[in-house]
Amino acid sequence: MNMTENLMVKTEPLVEPISAAGSNQVSKHSLVDPELNEFLYIYEELVRSRFSAITNTLKTLSIYQHELDFVTRAQRIALDQLHYELPLSLLEDSWVSGLNLRALHSYCIFRSFKECVAKARFDQASWRERIALHTSFIHSCGYHTVNISSCADGRLQGLLSFILRLVPSESIYVKSYAGAMFNIEEDIVNWAHRELERLTGGLPGDEDKNYLKIAVYHYSSSNPAHQGCAAHGSDTEKALKSALERLNELRAAINNTYGRGAAPDILLIGVDTDIDSIRVHFPDVSGDINPDRYIDSGKIYQESIGMDQETARMYISDALDKAESGLSSEKGKMAAGMRSLVVGLVEANLSQIEFVIQYHAGRYRVIGHNERFICAGESMNELHLRNKYYFAHLNTVEEAAVHLDVGVKIFTELNIKHGLAIPILVHYHYSSRVPGARERVIQRCRRVKAAIESRYSKLHERGLLNCQIAISDKVGTERCTFIEDEVKVAEH
Ligand SMILES: [Zn+2]
Ligand SMILES: [Zn+2]
Repeated sequence: MNMTENLMVKTEPLVEPISAAGSNQVSKHSLVDPELNEFLYIYEELVRSRFSAITNTLKTLSIYQHELDFVTRAQRIALDQLHYELPLSLLEDSWVSGLNLRALHSYCIFRSFKECVAKARFDQASWRERIALHTSFIHSCGYHTVNISSCADGRLQGLLSFILRLVPSESIYVKSYAGAMFNIEEDIVNWAHRELERLTGGLPGDEDKNYLKIAVYHYSSSNPAHQGCAAHGSDTEKALKSALERLNELRAAINNTYGRGAAPDILLIGVDTDIDSIRVHFPDVSGDINPDRYIDSGKIYQESIGMDQETARMYISDALDKAESGLSSEKGKMAAGMRSLVVGLVEANLSQIEFVIQYHAGRYRVIGHNERFICAGESMNELHLRNKYYFAHLNTVEEAAVHLDVGVKIFTELNIKHGLAIPILVHYHYSSRVPGARERVIQRCRRVKAAIESRYSKLHERGLLNCQIAISDKVGTERCTFIEDEVKVAEH
């Protein structure tokens, strides 16, 4: 599959937001948690403000760049509007060669992101407490780990906390790949690692529980042919089938290697990125997924609005029964734990649907791409928000080139067309328990950075690609520390 060939990348916002509920009427579904939505909205606004202040701040700086007290003044403006200072090296020589606004813009994007990471615990405290589906709920459904692979598309960056209303933790995490095309070998390693932890007593209380693998594809209900998954040429059918194929391959791989029955449970979810509703394609009794058997939260929302909680819950349960017996009923019904998980996900997502109705007029104004930067390497669990960055999970650039190419293509539209550079944050984790790991991860970041700069050398030479290295400690407190290039002088 050539992912970059039939790329459709559109970034223009719709002129008029299409409202699903009508402009002023905010519908209230009895199963929605309005207070949680309010907390999430406050968080969204807070994070957004850290990025949206950048452009105006830089425009202001550019006015003053030839003044005598420019550096002092610039720092005061930056502190006031962005709450951090700017690197002196980017300010001091402006009187000679003019302010390097491209470099400053990239720096500010990285720095604002770092701010979000540093303040995450504080920023997210309100909704983390209140969110619908905690780890204990996942455990009650019979799973010790939920490993989710979604598309790297920035519109899915809010997947965990917003769309699925899950709290990220050691046992619930997302890794993204272009088109949700996760790497099977790597997934086997992740699975084996978790199962080993379980079998050696590392997951107390969860010894009898299972591993769940979820793949998440996406589509756009209002503009399916252009705003769907770029990695699959905006072909919803192809996005769905490819993700399911990957899930089945993972199951086969583990069953063939470790014996029948070893494979994890699987679940397939589709997200309508216009309104954040979900389609859950659930398995039958033997764990197989029929792509045509699913439950759609958007439909449930519309049909059950106005019902009281008890009736609405019964409605969801009936709808699931119908979907289950509609096709291939002879295959038998899914396990009880899986069923409560599916019901839980659908019910929790109703809040997200209403969130989009209430705070985004029923449909996101920008239904296309609007990311701020590319994160390459390993993602941080700290930021959960739609369209903040395009994430390319990669071990080496050669291996994951296609994921990066999709990202660079998106940013050619978003940034380069407007004279801005593409900011790429190269980020990896290390463990401070492992001697020498920090130094090794820095070397790894440098290799990846160099490979990115040579793959996109034309952009890099013209100053249209800014790579910043950052590292985090898996077990300690160091988060998103910027690592600068080795100073040239050291080479004497
Ligand atoms: Zn996609
Ligand atoms: Zn990896």
